[in-house]
This record gives sequence, C-alpha cells and structure tokens, in this order.
Amino acid sequence: MSTTLITNIGELTTNVGFEGDRSGTRRDAAVLVDGGRIAWVGSAADAPDADETIDADGRAVIPGFVDSHSHLVFGGDRAAEFEARMAGEKYAAGGIRSTVAATRAASDGQLRARLRGFVDEMLAQGTTTVEIKSGYGLSVDDEQRLVRLAAEVTTEVTFLGAHVVPADYADRADEYVDLVTGPMLDACAPYARWIDVFCETGAFSVAQARRVLDAGVAKGLTPRMHASQLGPGDGVRLAVELGAASVDHGTYLTDADIAALAASDTVLTLLPGVEFSTRQPYPDARRLIDAGVTVAIACDTNPGSSFTSSMPFCIAIAVRDMGMTPAEAVWAATAGGARALRRDDVGVIAPGARADLVLLTAPTRIHLAYRPGVPLVDRVWKDGVPVVAASAQRRGDHGSLAR
Ligand SMILES: [Zn+2]
Repeated sequence: MSTTLITNIGELTTNVGFEGDRSGTRRDAAVLVDGGRIAWVGSAADAPDADETIDADGRAVIPGFVDSHSHLVFGGDRAAEFEARMAGEKYAAGGIRSTVAATRAASDGQLRARLRGFVDEMLAQGTTTVEIKSGYGLSVDDEQRLVRLAAEVTTEVTFLGAHVVPADYADRADEYVDLVTGPMLDACAPYARWIDVFCETGAFSVAQARRVLDAGVAKGLTPRMHASQLGPGDGVRLAVELGAASVDHGTYLTDADIAALAASDTVLTLLPGVEFSTRQPYPDARRLIDAGVTVAIACDTNPGSSFTSSMPFCIAIAVRDMGMTPAEAVWAATAGGARALRRDDVGVIAPGARADLVLLTAPTRIHLAYRPGVPLVDRVWKDGVPVVAASAQRRGDHGSLAR
C-alpha cells in the first residue's frame, strides 16, 4: 500500500476532544493516509515521509460528511408540488404517494442510474458516508427492489416500508402494518441494517410504529424513526424507549421530548433542508445542545420535502436559523452523523479511522456557513482514494488564502 501525506493544513477538524467552538481542531497540521485508513495525525513540522505529498496550502481539511438520512431510490420528481407550495399550499405526508407511483413504474436500470448520480453528486459536495432508505415501493416486491438497489452503493440501508400507507391500503392501515411486519420485512431484512417508521399524523400512529420497530428488532435490525415533523406527538419518546439510534426531524419538540433525548443515547437528527423547502418553523438546535442532546445534521434528500443533497447548505441553515455555531454544525454533519449511524470509524480524523477527507477551498470550516451556496469542496478522499480531484475551475481565483 502506498502512503499519502496531506500537509500544510491551516485548520484540521479532527472532532477529537470536541468541547466547544475552537476545540476539535489542530493548526498547521498534517495527516498521513496508509491504504484506506488514517495512519498518523500531527504537526506539519513533524510529518513523516510518504510516497506522495499533497500541499493543502494553508486551507482547511474536515472529515467527509456523514449524511445519516436520505431517500435516494425513487422515480419522477415533484417540482410542480414544490412550485405550488411556494405559492402557499401546505406540505402533507400524502404527497409521498405520487412518488410511489413513479417509482413502481421505473425500471431497475432507471432507478440505479439515478441513485448512482445522487451518490456522485453527494461525493462532489464532500459526503463520503450516506444512509439510504426504501419507502417509495410500499409492496413486498417494490420495497425489496429498493433496499437491494440501495445496498449496491452503501452498507447503511434502512427498510422504511412504513413510510406512508399506500393508496391500495387506504383505511386499512393496520392491515398494511401486518404486511410491513410480515412478508415485506422478511423480504427486505437481508439487505438492511436499519428499520424506520414515519410516526406522524397522516402516516403511522405510535402503536403502529411500535409494532413496526419491534418486528424489525426481532429480525436483527436496529431502529430509527421519523417523528415530530408536522406537529408534536409521542414518537420521540417511543424512539428513546426502544433504544433507537436516531430520531429524525424534531421540528416540534416538547420539553418532555428533549428531557428524554438528553437522558438517552438516541441522537436527534435535524434536517434543515426540510424546514427550508416546506416553510416549516426551524427547530431550536441551541435549546437541544444546551440541554445535552446529541445532535446530527442530515439532508433528507427526497423529491418531496427536501431535494437538496448539499451538507454545506444544511450547515449554513443550521447556523443561520437554528442557533448552532459553525463548529457545532460541522461536528453534527460529520461526527454527529456517525453517532446517528453508530459508527466510530467515520466522522473523525484520527489514527485508525477511515481516510474519508475533504479539502476545502477555504482557510477555515466557518466558511461553510459564511459562504452559503458557494462550492467550497476542492478535493475528496474516500477510503484513502481520491474521488474528487482538485479542479482549477472549482478552485477559482481566491487570491491569497493566508490567514
Ligand atoms: Zn426522511
């Protein structure tokens, strides 16, 4: 295996020893990559020799983003629904059904090409780990197709047969839960690591959500949940009770929800793109962090409520509108996502971790929030392999990046 040294890093976000705004970083640092892993982290002045040396030129390096919540296997889009929403219509869970029809009509080849395109789009924006859910099939064969396709591109596959009650089961939600927890789960569990449910008015009740997650656990899957997106409910406390790795959305949290989360190992994953594109109020991340809740940020890439795949964009919103510091938001999008997936080999830059690294065209991670919408990701390595190379066009002429 050949070694690569990235040296002259102006600000290295390691996420080791993170306690506040200025910690979790090293100045004038270097990272040695050996094979797919990080072999050494230290001062540029003490850097060991390597087969190849890359000069970061005083710019910032962060861990690859860990996007712990996405829906990337689907057909069609909902641009017209978005346009209507921006003109004043309200978002409702039922819109999912239109994507179900388009997904069922698409071929494996069409879904696969789209999925791979999204993964490449994410890599170009610095996301090196992505969780992908099913949930637009809602029949045994279609759900199995979606988890099988997702498993071609990630190990973090989530079975979300309980996304919404499909039109063919209208007014027969409990019968649909029988299907999800029976033959559908049997067909999908071999391809999945996680079981998820949308616990919300218009989707599944707390009692139905409990049945879904219990059935998944009995099949060896670990629970996660969509909850409190459209209004307050009991989903968050159920997720905590069942030991879910993460409960996602949390747009409407009660004091009791926050106390339960703070006393648990369950991560609260914020999805800033959803509030942005549904015009919902932004949850108060400051209140969560101050209460001791572990917070992650994910894109929730999906055609209905958040069709962005950009973690830098979500970081910018979390800082601008949710009360996070830039350091907290970058942590939540890297190490926080790793916690939400119960991973300790990604989201950090430390010896032994996977060499998933992002070199920014900026001297500090603060620029991710400070320069919203600007493509600041210059180079990306996944498992030590360069997957996005430096581009003169992308780098542009930033002038001196000296601090
Ligand atoms: Zn979702």
